[in-house]
Amino acid sequence: MSICCPTCDSTNTKKNGHIHNGKQNHYCNECSRQFVENREQILTFHRIKW
Ligand SMILES: [Zn+2]
Repeated sequence: MSICCPTCDSTNTKKNGHIHNGKQNHYCNECSRQFVENREQILTFHRIKW
């Protein structure tokens, strides 16, 4: 199960190591952007979008 990209909403993402504070970093294969997994922000993003 992949994480949804907050930029383009694609699930075509892959893990891209961790950032300095230990959070999981992800890379989107669709828009070539990197983003950090943050469950609260992802939920908020979907809530706003819907
Ligand atoms: Zn994307």
